[in-house]
Order: sequence, then C-alpha cells, then structure tokens
Amino acid sequence: MASETKFGVRRYRMYINGEFVESASGKYFPVTEPSTEEVMAEVPEANEKDVNRAVAAAKAAFDSGAWPQTTAQDRGRILFRIAERIRKEAAHLAELESRNSGKPIVEAEYDIADAATCFEYYGGMATKILGHVNPVPDNALSLSLREPIGVAAQIIPWNYPLLMAAWKLAPALAAGCTCVLKPAEQTPLTALELAGYFTDAGLPPGVVNIITGLGEECGAPLVKHPDVNKVAFTGSATVGKAIMKAAADTVKRVTLELGGKSPNIFFADADFESAIDGALFGVFINQGEVCSAGSRILVEKSIYPKFVEAMSAKAKTIRLGPPLERETKMGPLVSKDQFDRVRSYQELGKKEAKLAAGGGRAASMTRGYYVEPTIFYDVDNSARIAQEEIFGPVAAVIPFAGEAEALRIANATPYGLAAAVWSRDIFKALRMVKALRAGVVWVNHMQPTYVEAPWGGYKQSGFGRELGPWGIEEYLETKQVHINLNEQPIGWY
Ligand code: NAP
Ligand code: MG
Repeated sequence: MASETKFGVRRYRMYINGEFVESASGKYFPVTEPSTEEVMAEVPEANEKDVNRAVAAAKAAFDSGAWPQTTAQDRGRILFRIAERIRKEAAHLAELESRNSGKPIVEAEYDIADAATCFEYYGGMATKILGHVNPVPDNALSLSLREPIGVAAQIIPWNYPLLMAAWKLAPALAAGCTCVLKPAEQTPLTALELAGYFTDAGLPPGVVNIITGLGEECGAPLVKHPDVNKVAFTGSATVGKAIMKAAADTVKRVTLELGGKSPNIFFADADFESAIDGALFGVFINQGEVCSAGSRILVEKSIYPKFVEAMSAKAKTIRLGPPLERETKMGPLVSKDQFDRVRSYQELGKKEAKLAAGGGRAASMTRGYYVEPTIFYDVDNSARIAQEEIFGPVAAVIPFAGEAEALRIANATPYGLAAAVWSRDIFKALRMVKALRAGVVWVNHMQPTYVEAPWGGYKQSGFGRELGPWGIEEYLETKQVHINLNEQPIGWY
C-alpha cells in the first residue's frame, strides 16, 4: 500500500478491485502531520474516473454474487480475520493514527481496539440477520427476507479515521453489501493500511474499494453515481445537506451523522469533583474534535461561580503536547484549516461572552496546530459560540435556574446528537432523559460509546443509526415473498 519515496515521505496507493493503484490522473496530494506541520505522506488524488472504476468494481462484486452470495458464516469469518489483523497491527496503526490526526496516542490505542471490536461485533451479527413469517389470512406462506442494499458509498471525517471506517464497513459487509469508502483528505492513511489486510482475510476483489480524494472531485461524483444504492456519511451539516439533495435524483438510501452542539447539564446536587471532570472530558477529549462534544455546559446557578472557577483552574493544567507522548492529554488540531476555524471562534467568543480559560494558540508549543483548551462563561444560548459547531476545544458555559430552564436551553439548538445530565436525584435525571431531544443521552457520564448500543442524531444531527443491530438495518432491504399453498386455480377470471 505504500512505498518509501525521497525525503522519507511515504507514497501510498489507493485500493480498487483488490489492487493498490494510482489515480487515473497520476496525481498525488500531500498528507500533513499536524504536530510538525510537515508532509508525512502522499496519497492518490482520485477524480470521477477513479470513482467510476471503484463503483464498477463494487457493482461487479455485488452483481456476480462474489459477496452477497457468500454464506453468512464465511462473511463473519472474514470480518473476524480483519479484526484479528487490526489487533495484531494495533501498535503500528495507533502510531500512524496519532501522527496523522494529532490525537494523543493513548486515545488512538482505544480507537484502534474499538475498530477491531466493531469488526468482531458485526462478524458475529452476519449470522443473526433474520427474516420473518408474516401471519397473512390466506392459505399461503408469507415471508419477509432481508437482503443487502447493494453498493454503499461511505464518506467519513478525520476525527476518528480508522474507527469511522470500521463503523461504516463492518455492518455493510456483514449485510452483504459492497463498498466504496472515501476517507477524509486529511487522514486517509490508516484506512489504506486497513485495505492491505483484506486480501489475506479472504475478502474477494471489489468488495471494498478505498479511494482517496477531495470532497468536490471525488466525494461528489461518488454520491451522484447511479450504481451507488446507498450513501452513509459522517461530517459537517453543510456537506450532509448537499449529499441528501444529490442523492435524491437516484433515490439513494441515505444515512447522515452531522455532529451537534450537545448540552452537558450539571445540577447543583451532582457530585462536584466528577462533574468538573465530566465537563472537561466531555468537551476536550480528542481536542474537542468530536461530533458529540459537550460543547454547551449548562450549570445550575447555585453552583455556577464555583463550577466555572474549578473547571477553568483544572483546564489550565491539561497537558498539551506531542501526540506520541503518553502523558499528552491534548494534541494539535488536525489541520491548518481547522486551527484557523477554531482560532476564529476563540476570537468571536471574546466578543460574545467572558473568557475563563485559554482563548488562543498554545504558546507552549512552537510548531503544530495547537490551541489552548478554552472556556467561555456567561454565554447566551443564542450566541454563535453556543449555536455553531466549532469542533475544537472551546466550551460555552451557560447558567440556568431549575429543570425547566435547563431543558429549554438544552433543546434550543437545531442539532440533537447527544446530551448528558449530572445529578444524584434519579427522578430529576430521568425526567430530563425523557424530555431531551437527542439521540444519545448519558447520565453522570459523557462520551462512552459502545458498538452494542445505537448511535445517531435527532433533528439536524442527521438520521439513521449506526452500531448495534440498528447499524446493520441501514444496509438491508426487506423483500416480501408470497407463496400460494392452494392447488386450485386463482384469480377472478
Ligand atoms: P466535511 O467537509 O463535511 O468532510 C467530511 C467528508 O465529506 C470528507 O471526507 C470530505 O471530503 C467529504 N466531502 C466534502 N465535500 C463533499 C461533497 N460535496 N460531496 C461528498 N463528500 C464531500 O467536514 P470538514 O471539512 O472535514 O470539517 C468541517 C466541519 O465539519 C468541522 O469544523 C466540523 O464542524 C464538522 N465535522 C463534523 C464531523 C462529525 O463527526 N459530525 C466530523 C468532521 C467535521 P474532504 O476530504 O475533501 O474534506
Ligand atoms: Mg473538508
């Protein structure tokens, strides 16, 4: 998948029809290491021609039966082998992920293990896709069969590169779909490493194709392609909306995961120490580049001053550093673009609210896209820093008085991916759980995510669910089969 080139920059190839290939144009684009701002690799720049090639391979692997006609047992075994290989290569993958995305190595290790778990989970699920016998009022046998949707286009972001690839590929493959995956331009490397495991695992050519390219030149033609039956997307709301429109012309199935502005709600009766940790972890994990980041921190007025003070004091002690150092808690942001974007929100925040911690570039780091963990307080929920997804370590702390107000503020956003509630009053917490308009609600915790449990948003955070049995549903069609058991002639004529 990669060969060493001059100046130590690795040149990767992308993966189409079981082979590592260049792009049709022969062009490559650079991949930057965010902690050094230097180029660490080059990957092929795919355009529409490459998209056509990849979709043709996926369609052939589907239509020939090379994948959908494989037994569920064999599909499961292949997914287990992919998982096993990920675990075997975990140290290498984690290091590559950490260098390429900027995430701390310890978090990258969790991600790689979670990616393997995802393949194991859906490897097991391949043999648990069940049909039904429908109780029709006739002398007939009525069945519903579950069948793979066909060719799935899968477009993923840069914050959890290999894990997002696993969330997309594993359920699709278990269902019997074939796939064309486009990683984010910033972080294509671990997905290309993964492609190197497929042949050994027994995956037939064309079942998974991984093409590297830019959104407009590669992602857009993939979404429009008439032979693509389903698009699964995780990323920004802007691109998600464009994808939904583009998919309409050919009535593709679409699932979208579009991030959010998730409330992390703290009542006065919550355990204070855990609350402070939960607020910091909820918004600063993975440098805040998390779709479910608890970026609006709602705090009950009676503990508000103490809370802002304690949270800010602790935020200032968070260890920023090179992602490969095990003590690092926050690495650099993924790219110069993301750095500029987050910096502009830090400046905007200074106009819209009061600054309690951070607010700028990390002065301790001389190079790399590092920004300080930043906390604004006395934020009005209508401020832009409380309404727009920043996707970086910027928290907006908002005071509230009582349950009703907490709920009103929490739900006052176009998004609805996640929410968390902290309280020792179980009745209050459960009332909040029921009334929060979000696809994931945590109580006395924020962020734990499990392959066994559903993941996805309400409102403009998207639709469809990943993970668990819900995740595989999104790759299945339902076919009704009616078998007449009468031996007499039928019909009216
Ligand atoms: P993005 O543009 O939505 O990128 C997500 C994926 O979509 C990438 O693979 C991207 O390709 C691709 N893409 C872009 N334009 C496309 C198009 N017209 N058709 C098909 N695919 C297309 O997100 P971003 O630029 O990386 O980040 C911008 C903001 O999005 C962030 O600041 C954050 O607010 C949000 N975001 C959300 C999530 C999430 O998990 N919900 C994840 C990442 C970012 P490229 O490789 O060219 O980018
Ligand atoms: Mg982009």
